[in-house]
Amino acid sequence: LVTIRDLHKSFGDNEVLRGIDLDINEGEVVCIIGASGSGKSTLLRCVNLLEVPTSGTIEAAGHDMTHPDADLDAARADIGMVFQQFNLFSHLSILDNVTIAQRRVYKTSKPEAEAEARRRLAEVGIEGKERSKPSQLSGGQQQRVAIARALAVNPKLMLFDEPTSALDPELVGEVLSVMKGLAAEGMTMLVVTHEMGFAREVADRVVFIDGGVIVEEGTPAEVLTNPKTERAQSFLHRVL
Ligand code: ATP
Ligand code: MG
Repeated sequence: LVTIRDLHKSFGDNEVLRGIDLDINEGEVVCIIGASGSGKSTLLRCVNLLEVPTSGTIEAAGHDMTHPDADLDAARADIGMVFQQFNLFSHLSILDNVTIAQRRVYKTSKPEAEAEARRRLAEVGIEGKERSKPSQLSGGQQQRVAIARALAVNPKLMLFDEPTSALDPELVGEVLSVMKGLAAEGMTMLVVTHEMGFAREVADRVVFIDGGVIVEEGTPAEVLTNPKTERAQSFLHRVL
């Protein structure tokens, strides 16, 4: 579902991604781990072209993202993204946050969009908050609304960039359990995370990035339990 070939990204003379090759199959959950500044967010943002690669090719959810004529609106409708800071529209109600993309991008009728939104909100365990504003919800609830918003347009692929890093520790579990549910239903997911327990339990594959290259890639047991490289060993030693 995702094919990345020889992806490079520089900001000025700072070469952040230095030749990334990565494939993700349909239904797979791939977790990306690595130190701060190693290029994890940049890689994720290149997948839906929030960052424009310097060179290389990316196909994602059936779209040739790096083709000059790529229809980015159509592509992004198939690729949901959830950020560390939930990025909800603070002036809109929860219901409007979850319906806005359907209404604007797909011109879905209001009743239809609201029915889908209610279904997605129930899926992430948010009920009876439709009329609330984001600020009236806990961080964990806001992040679950952000997941419902991304799901409301039926994406084929979900990107998560440290979705629990901004949360109080007691709220992390409720977001991870929603993500586990999604994975169990077969959603294809690319997840940047510091939650090694989640990676171990849910990931089909773990990718360790250092200095803008993939240093190790394999099952959670291979990468997290028996890392081969000294760089992965010392990173895991610091975070575990
Ligand atoms: P963290 O774990 O802290 O989120 P990360 O692995 O996600 O780190 P990136 O955010 O991808 O790292 O950043 C990698 C490098 O790219 C950093 O040196 C950062 O300063 C640089 N960088 C990222 N975005 C930009 C940008 N828009 N303009 C200039 N430099 C950038
Ligand atoms: Mg990051």
